[in-house]
Amino acid sequence: MSDPREIAAQASLLVAPKSLRGESLLITAGGTREPLDPVRAITNRSSGKMGFAIASEAARRGAEVTLVSGPVSLSTPPGVKRVDVETALEMREAVLAALDGTTAFVAAAAVADFRPAERADHKIKKEALACDGESPSLEVRLVPNPDILAEVASRPAEAGRPEFVVGFAAESRDLIEAARRKLERKRCDLIVANDISRSGAGFEADSNAVILVAPDRPEIEVPLAPKSEVAAVLLDYVEAELRVGRS
Ligand code: C5P
Repeated sequence: MSDPREIAAQASLLVAPKSLRGESLLITAGGTREPLDPVRAITNRSSGKMGFAIASEAARRGAEVTLVSGPVSLSTPPGVKRVDVETALEMREAVLAALDGTTAFVAAAAVADFRPAERADHKIKKEALACDGESPSLEVRLVPNPDILAEVASRPAEAGRPEFVVGFAAESRDLIEAARRKLERKRCDLIVANDISRSGAGFEADSNAVILVAPDRPEIEVPLAPKSEVAAVLLDYVEAELRVGRS
């Protein structure tokens, strides 16, 4: 280990206050990739940076962290167990396999809501497509993917629902209303709402500005800050809620 950044990361892991020691966090990150054929896929714009920042900060605070990640080009934060997946179905399987003993689940992944109903074994060729007289056209039937967050959050506690479940909402309008609807529909304890129309925030940026939306509470605004700082604010919130839930 001679990379100075790696050494600094390991050192920071050692000196950080261990406020999440004894907790087990399961985090999803990145976008899923839903293949059409061996070379093409439906995906969405997610760098994975927010989920990785949360995983990194949680490990620094002493939590046991499992990070289920879609295809991203990010290195695994020190102290984090990473499970790489490609599709939403694989992400669901990996999440359910890691759920046992999880105290907090944070779904930061941008899961594709739909996947192609069929995956071609070989590259789809333009020449082989039906022609309507002029240009070839391809019709793709999409089927819905399971909602991983809703499935985990709807479990009864006896069936392994984590004590605290966090979802994300990336919206370009009516942010708070959409977040409140999502909170109810997905039965989670907190939604981190993201205005993706703001510059410097959202999918590929290194910074983010979010609003924390919880049931029966006023919203908490987290102003534009590096994703590592937003992760720290979020984990302060999760820590406090875990404490309250047990008192
Ligand atoms: O409904 P929407 O996709 O906007 O919800 C976003 C939240 O739900 C995120 O936390 C995302 O990780 C989660 N989600 C999921 N499985 C899906 C779709 C979204 O876990 N199929």
